[in-house]
Amino acid sequence: MREKANAAAIHQASLTGPTDVLSLIGNTPLMRLERVGRELPQVELYAKAEWANPGGSVKDRPAKNIILEAERMRTMSKDKILVDSTSGNTGIAYAMISAARGYRARLFMPSNVSLERKRILRAYGAEIVYTDPMEGSDGAIRRVREVAAENPELYFYANQYDNPANWRAHYQATGPEIFEQTAGRITHFVAGLGTSGTFVGTARRLKELKPDVRCISFQPDAPFHGLEGMKHMATAIVPKIYDPTVADRDLAVSTEDAYAMALRLAREEGLLVGVSSGAAMVAALRVAKEARHGVVVTVFPDSGDKYLSERFWDEAGTADG
Ligand code: PMP
Repeated sequence: MREKANAAAIHQASLTGPTDVLSLIGNTPLMRLERVGRELPQVELYAKAEWANPGGSVKDRPAKNIILEAERMRTMSKDKILVDSTSGNTGIAYAMISAARGYRARLFMPSNVSLERKRILRAYGAEIVYTDPMEGSDGAIRRVREVAAENPELYFYANQYDNPANWRAHYQATGPEIFEQTAGRITHFVAGLGTSGTFVGTARRLKELKPDVRCISFQPDAPFHGLEGMKHMATAIVPKIYDPTVADRDLAVSTEDAYAMALRLAREEGLLVGVSSGAAMVAALRVAKEARHGVVVTVFPDSGDKYLSERFWDEAGTADG
């Protein structure tokens, strides 16, 4: 029995070639959303299922590109420690890839990040440095900058907010994937801003491939918000890679609408996604309503399982988008 299974596994490997965890990153499915936008039959709505990456989020893409570029530039090596600030998903991606490549990773994050996230990072063997929760993700940025500057020989400061390898990951892969998966029919691209890498890199490439694609970014509507992984640019440390001129428009989404939409996506589409995916759907529906017809594509950065301890799942609600 076991011989048979082994033979089958070897046969499969010989068909696809050997696989490591890095090669599972990217090429995520594009989901058609049939129900949440049913009042708009002339619009096709799609979302990129980024939770299908092996680390569970869109951030596997930039983390891989940042680390591989650093290897090529010889700024990362086994005797250095990778350091960066992260609200969670990038940390998980760094921790996963560092484990697979034999690196040490030390991640700076506000101490109030969820227990699930802390446990995932520890499971991969990463070290965590907690920063003041009152200072949010900007507090973690300030802290890692200080630490990296004190001893640059010891650390590779990955710096996801300022490192162009972040947006280039999306320019090189996410953009072309979306273009191919819609057979070039995409009319609108909608994505949220955290580091801004997803939006800036994907939109830049899509506009090259099809200059009349409309690219719409969105942000939380207030400085204090529950859209984990996203930034309110007017009041936050603005990432160096953020280029607001790439966007044809920028929308604001409230935490309450995002929560209600995450619930709707679970109940109407069978998709248990994170809060920023709920926000992405709110923004995409707003764009779809105004466009009336077209092919609107957004990105669902991660799944809902890391947010299950949040209370909004218990509350029935609806979002009007
Ligand atoms: N949503 C979630 C859940 C995230 O972790 C991130 C990454 N910070 C984003 C959205 C925003 O992505 P980006 O950093 O590429 O702008």
